[in-house]
Amino acid sequence: MKTAVYPGSFDPVTNGHMEIIHRAAALFDRVVVLVAANATKSGFFSAGERVELLELCTRDLPNVSVDSTGGLVAHYTSEIAADVIVKGLRAMTDFEFEFQQALVNRELNPRAETIFLPASGTSMYLSSGMVRQVCVLGGDIGAFVPKEALPRIIERMQANK
Ligand code: ADP
Repeated sequence: MKTAVYPGSFDPVTNGHMEIIHRAAALFDRVVVLVAANATKSGFFSAGERVELLELCTRDLPNVSVDSTGGLVAHYTSEIAADVIVKGLRAMTDFEFEFQQALVNRELNPRAETIFLPASGTSMYLSSGMVRQVCVLGGDIGAFVPKEALPRIIERMQANK
């Protein structure tokens, strides 16, 4: 039984995240999508909202669950005895940061191996920040986020304008 944790900000979930979730779900017995605290990013959606959106979008995937932590990903993976940390890689720009994170996570919890899944050509350019920006400026984000999450994301972004 191999358990993978897929950590990130998911502020909000995008089709790029969904693609990594589907691919991880096909590779591992169990996948926990983890909304993790990020000291360098101030959140738009609360952790609870991000979890709710992710749950809505993954409800058809029986081996995927969603959780959140205010602590370190390495501590979470150690607590649930996860085997793997899954990360998506968009471009070389993601690489340096993700590589550094992987090395730190290995120091903190040697049991969990980090595995990188390359983004597909179509979601290479997608980020939560880009989705927020397009939405705030009145653009159509329908092609960027899962359809289950779209109404809630638009509603929340408009309420915050
Ligand atoms: P961001 O806020 O930059 O969109 P997150 O912190 O939520 O991203 O990302 C969580 C993980 O998902 C990271 O490993 C990130 O590289 C990966 N990821 C984010 N967007 C994509 C995408 N479009 N395709 C593949 N992986 C992605």
